[in-house]
Amino acid sequence: MVITGVGIGRGIAMGPVLRMPDPIREPSSRPRSDDTDAATEVSRVDAALARVREDLERRADAAAHGDGGARQAASILTALAQMTDDPALHDSIVAGIGRGLTAQRAVFEGFGGFEAKLSALGGYMSERSADLHDIGQRVMADLLHVQAPGIPHSERPFVLVATDLSPADTAALDPGSVLAIVTSQGGPTSHTAILARARSIVAVVSAARAADLVNGDNVIVNAASGTVSVNPSDEEVSVAREAKARADRAKGLRGLPGGLADGTAIPLLANVARPQDAGPALEYGAEGVGLFRTEFLFIANGEPPGVEEQTREYTKLLERFPGRKVVIRVLDAGADKPLPFLTPENEPNPALGLRGLRSLKAHRQVLDDQLEALSRADRQTRADLWVMAPMVADQYEAAYFVTLAKSKGLRKVGVMAEVPSIAFMADEVAAVADFVSIGTNDLTQYTMAADRTLGSVSGYQNAWHPAVLRAIKLIADAGVRHGMPVGVCGEAAADPDLAVVLVGLGVNSLSMSPAALDDVRAELAGCTLEQARSRATRALRGDFYHPSADPHVEPLRG
Ligand code: PEP
Ligand code: MG
Repeated sequence: MVITGVGIGRGIAMGPVLRMPDPIREPSSRPRSDDTDAATEVSRVDAALARVREDLERRADAAAHGDGGARQAASILTALAQMTDDPALHDSIVAGIGRGLTAQRAVFEGFGGFEAKLSALGGYMSERSADLHDIGQRVMADLLHVQAPGIPHSERPFVLVATDLSPADTAALDPGSVLAIVTSQGGPTSHTAILARARSIVAVVSAARAADLVNGDNVIVNAASGTVSVNPSDEEVSVAREAKARADRAKGLRGLPGGLADGTAIPLLANVARPQDAGPALEYGAEGVGLFRTEFLFIANGEPPGVEEQTREYTKLLERFPGRKVVIRVLDAGADKPLPFLTPENEPNPALGLRGLRSLKAHRQVLDDQLEALSRADRQTRADLWVMAPMVADQYEAAYFVTLAKSKGLRKVGVMAEVPSIAFMADEVAAVADFVSIGTNDLTQYTMAADRTLGSVSGYQNAWHPAVLRAIKLIADAGVRHGMPVGVCGEAAADPDLAVVLVGLGVNSLSMSPAALDDVRAELAGCTLEQARSRATRALRGDFYHPSADPHVEPLRG
């Protein structure tokens, strides 16, 4: 049986299940007996709140002296400790006692009311209601003199399964005994997920069927695929072992520059969509940024952002990469990224319409402002800024963009190769552009004439197709002839096997989402340029391409 959920990170772990103990049962709502007066009940609650607070502060203090992830837990624990002091919450508990409730029932109702309010707010606030619930449980446990719900103990390392984990529990996890976490609730922004990520604990959250797991079940938890395999076969176990060993080796190389076994350097860069993505990119060992998609600045607004706002945002990113390469792409509006103020409403075929550079040429002011902002941000920072345009069809458009960008003072100006026509004109393009970055997502879409957003033709969206690889080769060859850098920044770069083939074709840098860097770095480190070239030769023949079964076509018989 395989249970699915949301994986946090890409780790893999296996072991026996141990479930979190059940939560404390709802206290009776019967009025308390006449011989307990309200003042005594209030002072019991105050003492319990104080003890829970002290306990959380003690844990926060211990966490503050731990590793980076534990330190993040410390600030969460401190915030939780402060929740025990909330005057409105205290008033509502005292009011419950005033109505004749027992201390534990008043705590249950008081916390429950506040939890419901937070839940109703939705999103981030509703996830904080789980934090409040946890504190309520601890206070009730103290009042009832029972053990607070918490992480179970076992001599053998185990996979912890829970409905959800409180931040206090997650912070207290001992990675030596907890192999992985599986929760049936809690989203990707819950504290469980945040702390699991920060502490590099393998986790799958929001896996509803995890509620069926029982103590002693053997499971493989695969965060990359967001799956939990229950009582797996020997074969599944050995595949998982191999994957784990590979992931551990790959992680061990983090921080080293990308390169082949023979020393050929292949810089590994990150694709980012916002300045704050610089953090994860650097954590995963990106050597710079190979694609900064600037659409985020434009998408939420009814009109283009001003030069000053743009300058601020680009500066924020560039400041994080002093001395390193950062490739920023000007706005790619249209098709799958329509913008109301730029994209015509009724294009019958938007992927072939006013998109990327075509749209910017039709709205010169938007392009001028963006280039001006990039130039200002460049002057204020020390990153090695490269600027490129999307959807450039040929040398004429390349020359248009390069000339304009250089007139604004930008020094390194290139183009994306996404439209097949550019591959046929690659020598002419190399004569005018400083670099080419191949967007394999669109290059595949346009080479195969299959809309990348359409499920019915998704089988064509495969960059292993020899036609796509031959287009890439035309560009890489021109790069070699003209001494022009050629990188890949589409999803193809994130596939470790395909990354080797791309390098064999002559591509000299790869950019991908940060989480993919470890595996690509490890795969490249395991082969020489000669081996990469021979794999590329075979890939160009189609040896590694498997046409996917098309559900819309009857299989041929006979
Ligand atoms: C691409 O097309 O490969 C690319 C990187 O651009 P986007 O995915 O943003 O269209
Ligand atoms: Mg693209």
